[in-house]
Amino acid sequence: MTRRLYLETYGCQMNVADSELMLGRLKGAGYRLVDRADEADVILLNTCAIREHAEQRVYGRLGELSRHKLRRPGVVLGVAGCMAQHLRGKLLERVPQVDLVVGPDGYRNLPELIEAACEEPTLAVRLSRVETYEDLIPARADGVRAWVSIMRGCDKFCSFCIVPFVRGRERSLPIGEVIRQVEHAAAEGFREVVFLGQTVNAYRDGDVDFAELLERADRVEGIARIRFTSPHPSDMTDRAIEAIASCRKVPPQVHLPLQSGSDAVLERMRRTYTMEEYEVLVEKLRRAVPGIALSTDLIVGFPGETEEDFSATLRAVERIGYESAFIFKYSPRPGARSAEWPETVPDREKTRRITILIDRQKAISLRKNQADVGSTVEVLAEGPTKRSDMEWFGKSMHFKTVVFPHREERVGDLVSVRVAAATPHALLGEGVRSAAFAALEDVHA
Ligand code: SF4
Repeated sequence: MTRRLYLETYGCQMNVADSELMLGRLKGAGYRLVDRADEADVILLNTCAIREHAEQRVYGRLGELSRHKLRRPGVVLGVAGCMAQHLRGKLLERVPQVDLVVGPDGYRNLPELIEAACEEPTLAVRLSRVETYEDLIPARADGVRAWVSIMRGCDKFCSFCIVPFVRGRERSLPIGEVIRQVEHAAAEGFREVVFLGQTVNAYRDGDVDFAELLERADRVEGIARIRFTSPHPSDMTDRAIEAIASCRKVPPQVHLPLQSGSDAVLERMRRTYTMEEYEVLVEKLRRAVPGIALSTDLIVGFPGETEEDFSATLRAVERIGYESAFIFKYSPRPGARSAEWPETVPDREKTRRITILIDRQKAISLRKNQADVGSTVEVLAEGPTKRSDMEWFGKSMHFKTVVFPHREERVGDLVSVRVAAATPHALLGEGVRSAAFAALEDVHA
């Protein structure tokens, strides 16, 4: 009998890709995906542990979902992903209604684990040094963009981060398998491939490095764009920069996490680069790829961050001129090295700093987007905005959201759009009604 699966995903794109992997595995074992938890035989949450807030949300959701078990005791409630790996048995203690706890390296045996969980609470949290799921076919959601995990785990051990502890050590998929996945995505009608990895540019399969992977993927017919996230600055080789510059399908856009503009903070974060080295890298990228769009991740309020350190981050953001940035307040994660250090920046001060930094970045993003007004950008059409079927959105080569009036275009078409206006978050094509400004915020959210 077909069993019905309800799957919710939290956290980053790696988790989205892992959910597609789990779904592929379970569909192969006779499961069918349903939209509502109250229709499911198996309820799975694929979780994130990167911030405390993410864990609290999952606990809240588990409380709500537990009621399905009260009404239908045969339902299996499972927790997968980084939070499962991080908390292990503690999760079963805190939420006794949970039947299954499975970490990121346990998905191959998911059908058997669910069977076991029907009998007794089951824990599968052993990390692997070799598991890459290279032979499993993900069941990808519809859309224009296919996420392809080309490596798993991380060897960097930044002091604030628990990823190496919950996702294990770095290992890459065989190159043949990566290319097969790109070809498969093209055959399924996807127009863009995004290579994923915690340190995606550390990819290596024997002699094949990240640069060669880009070059080989560039030759796959049917795919219009190839992106990747997130590279680590220390792994960005000259060869990789050349490949980004020369591969026709790799757009001029790189997300390059900085985290802090202060060398002292970078050192305590164990980011393995100085501000000067990072800026040399930015210069190389800009020389090789004129007009390249850069985005970044930043943390404010790291232990020991002084006012001067924070000012250094503000100056770095101004100097580099990112198109956009993900900015977070530091919060200690049990298990990470920095969690043992005293917090020196009170929450109120973190709030002040993040507000200043977000405002500064917003002004820069607006300036950058306004510079595009009057130009024509190539947009990969994704579909209607939330507010109007007549106005569609998609991403430009620079990965900016663009809204444009819909005419004949189909999802996946490359459309030339003349930019008439800009907000900090998006570009508006000629002919878009001003009301679409609000829609832009919807699309971006
Ligand atoms: S590079 Fe650092 S921040 Fe990124 S996943 Fe690895 S340890 Fe975490």
